Amino acid sequence: LHDTYDSTNIFAKILRGEMPAVKVYEDDTALAFMDVFPQAEGHTLVIPKDVEARNLLEMPPEKLGPYMLVVQKVAKAVEAALKPDGLVVTQFNGAPAGQTVYHLHFHIIPRIEGQALGR
Ligand code: 5GP
Repeated sequence: LHDTYDSTNIFAKILRGEMPAVKVYEDDTALAFMDVFPQAEGHTLVIPKDVEARNLLEMPPEKLGPYMLVVQKVAKAVEAALKPDGLVVTQFNGAPAGQTVYHLHFHIIPRIEGQALGR
């Protein structure tokens, strides 16, 4: 949790167009794209634009509200498209917490009753 933002991270590259991604929503505030190693069908990631925040704690408060509105919008779209039984919306802060890419992202993971998470 104690390093600084590294702009060579994969999601920063996706934002700069240096790495491909399957984009599902984009506006001035945020970008949503499919996770390449989905834990369930429809696993989507939402990342904020124009901010050097590795995690939720580093997000400038004035940018958090608009970003979370996009997270909710994308969660609603995933829900409407796939009609899952439930939806996990989550994020991790720091490697010990399970974080592997150090640009803030929320996971949106559809859950089907009785179906285990997996890759
Ligand atoms: P974290 O554990 O940091 O919260 O999750 C990072 C997520 O990013 C993982 O679910 C992983 O599958 C996904 N991911 C890692 N590299 C790429 C990539 O190059 N493209 C996309 N679309 N997703 C990635």
